[in-house]
Amino acid sequence: MTEPTTPQIIDAAAEQAKVNLLGMSHNELRQQLKAMGEKPFRAEQILKWIHHEGMTDFDLMTNISKPLRAKLKQCAEIRPPQIVSQETSKDGTRKWVMRTDGDGLIETVFIPEDGRGTLCVSSQVGCSLDCSFCSTGKQGFQRDLTAAEIIGQIWLAIKSFDGFKAGSGRSVTNVVFMGMGEPLLNFDNVLSAMNLMMDDLGYGISKRRVTLSTSGVVPALEKLIGKTDVSLAISLHAPNDELRSQLVPINKKYPIKVLLDTVHRYMDDLQYKKRVVTIEYTLISNVNDRPEHAYELAQLLKNTPCKINLIPFNPFAMSDYKKVSNKALDKFRKILQNDGYVTTVRTTRGDDIDAACGQLVGDVKDKTKRAARHRAARGMETEQVVKIVQ
Ligand code: SAH
Ligand code: SF4
Repeated sequence: MTEPTTPQIIDAAAEQAKVNLLGMSHNELRQQLKAMGEKPFRAEQILKWIHHEGMTDFDLMTNISKPLRAKLKQCAEIRPPQIVSQETSKDGTRKWVMRTDGDGLIETVFIPEDGRGTLCVSSQVGCSLDCSFCSTGKQGFQRDLTAAEIIGQIWLAIKSFDGFKAGSGRSVTNVVFMGMGEPLLNFDNVLSAMNLMMDDLGYGISKRRVTLSTSGVVPALEKLIGKTDVSLAISLHAPNDELRSQLVPINKKYPIKVLLDTVHRYMDDLQYKKRVVTIEYTLISNVNDRPEHAYELAQLLKNTPCKINLIPFNPFAMSDYKKVSNKALDKFRKILQNDGYVTTVRTTRGDDIDAACGQLVGDVKDKTKRAARHRAARGMETEQVVKIVQ
């Protein structure tokens, strides 16, 4: 005879089995409803409740019949990641640390600017690439985020600004995949999440205002052609292969020429031809910030419709690199501008709360053993590197 199972265990098992509707596209939700024997058009109503009203409670979805609400309660849920902490910088930048399913922590940053608000989202817990200047890379890699965990970052940000209230206006106008992780290594979930961001039943953000930033995973970029038309940012950081391979190791596999050729094909495929790719270039003192690097960069990009975004390197523990001097930054920028490039300098935002580019660490249960190797090489203890934010 089998032992009777306790009610708590049955409840926990039922909880586990619930399907999270938060990351579902219109089509997926239609299929889900169909599989439940329900009318697929209900999907539109449910999506509006989730993404326009910020609702998680099926009981409050008043235009849905009571029997369907009961059914949904039984087998589905709307579950964003859990906020572990929230900090606001003196410049208004806000950073959330969020717990994902399981035990990884990720970070999301909101940057308010005149007339717009940019949300910088994470796509993975950690990152399997190991760019030498990036603190996320030093944490190693745990896993990909689900579409629900990516969309959940927008959902939570809007909720925390009370942006779901009628008439309050949307606080998040732009999304950039520049948080933790390499988005092209989490292809399907990132693509689904981007589609939902742009869908009017989701967040209705225009394709120009969703930016995918990549270090150059060429086969995945190739695969993206024709599947989406979001804005593209390429983390270049060096004007030649020798230097780039030191900073961005994936360059050894997919060198600059192959990467730029693929970028051209992506841009050529876009409907509106006047769009440009953003070239990101993190300036590190005495590494890639000399005038000859700027001249070489100008030459390299002469056939690429682009704007260049210079990012002063943000220092972090575990890195000996130094921030570029104002003088070198100015010179670098002028060389590019004199050659006709639209060149902007990313002002460092939120560094008092470690929310600046490359300072995001989260908490990664590293599967690559890389974090331990980096720490050992520097004679450091775990606590000195990963800030536990609880
Ligand atoms: N993996 C993707 C997106 C996340 S990184 C990518 O590499 O593009 C987002 C941006 O932050 C990239 O341009 C990256 O190069 C930059 N970055 C990483 N570490 C940095 C640091 N310490 N200082 C300044 N920028 C950094
Ligand atoms: Fe990963 Fe991007 Fe950091 Fe490189 S810069 S380690 S690709 S998150």
